[in-house]
Amino acid sequence: MFLSVIIPCYNEEESIHIFYEEVLKILKKLEKSAEFELIFIDDGSDDSTLDKVKELRYKDSRVRYTSFSRNFGKEAAIFAGLKKANGDFVAVMDVDLQDPPKLLLSMYAELSKKDTPFDCVATRRVNRKGESRLRSFFARKFYSLINKISKTEIVDGARDYRLMSRKMVNAILSLKEYSRFSKGIFSWVGFKTKWIEYENVERAAGKTSWSFWGLFWYAVEGIIGFSTAPLAVSSVLGFILCAASFVFIIFIIIKTLIFGDRAVGYPSLMCTIMFIGGVQLLCTGILGQYLSKTYLEVKKRPIYIIKEETQP
Ligand code: UDP
Ligand code: MG
Repeated sequence: MFLSVIIPCYNEEESIHIFYEEVLKILKKLEKSAEFELIFIDDGSDDSTLDKVKELRYKDSRVRYTSFSRNFGKEAAIFAGLKKANGDFVAVMDVDLQDPPKLLLSMYAELSKKDTPFDCVATRRVNRKGESRLRSFFARKFYSLINKISKTEIVDGARDYRLMSRKMVNAILSLKEYSRFSKGIFSWVGFKTKWIEYENVERAAGKTSWSFWGLFWYAVEGIIGFSTAPLAVSSVLGFILCAASFVFIIFIIIKTLIFGDRAVGYPSLMCTIMFIGGVQLLCTGILGQYLSKTYLEVKKRPIYIIKEETQP
């Protein structure tokens, strides 16, 4: 059996060596039953991440790397890794050790069973210890919203950390979309997934590259990518407003006929104009989001561009 581990890295010079030591301790335990490769994807880091990976490559030929020409984002890095991976089983893992390497053992044990019903063993955090309250609050809201409006189930607290069979990896590779929301894609391709739960672990070194707004737009990407409900909501809203204004117009006509027009009602007029204007802009904005995503897909740009990589 051959096991590939994909590790997306963006400005992680401090973590690379620590990660390698830790994960090797675990992979050594599998040595009897499986060979492995570690594929580091340098997502256009500005620091010495790539040099650190090259140091590893120099002493261990099981280490491979691909380096992007600029930062393309973790989703692109995961896609590149899946494409490069040769394994019968492929794992995706963060380099900051927030994904406990020892779980690899139980994941591998499950998937390598002879007649296992699972094609994927994934992990999910049961708490968000060490994360800011505000961030956890919005994260929870995001999961409950997306699960209401999307047919694809997105498990709350699910990590990208998982081990997949070759079948599932090939299925993921067949989705070539530009806006990649992995949590959705993993679930969309189907296959049975076994969930392992664990308590949140804080970063071993370095700091997270996700800002609040970064996460906000990532959430919007997830919703746009896996649900068209916002479009339906804006149509329904438009319909309700039309109906209301129709009733309102009739009311005004009748009122004018009975009481005459005394040019009152300027404030309510302004309020109505502002309200309807706001709703129109909101709905156009939603439309714009879908259009811009469609625009990016239609251009068929590559998901990432490689600057250099290990030769096979
Ligand atoms: N990462 C990446 N490209 C990016 C941002 C992050 O490859 O543009 C990598 C990062 O190096 C790490 C993983 O994705 O290995 C998770 O990132 P981070 O720890 O910042 O996210 P969090 O754990 O806070 O969700
Ligand atoms: Mg992390």
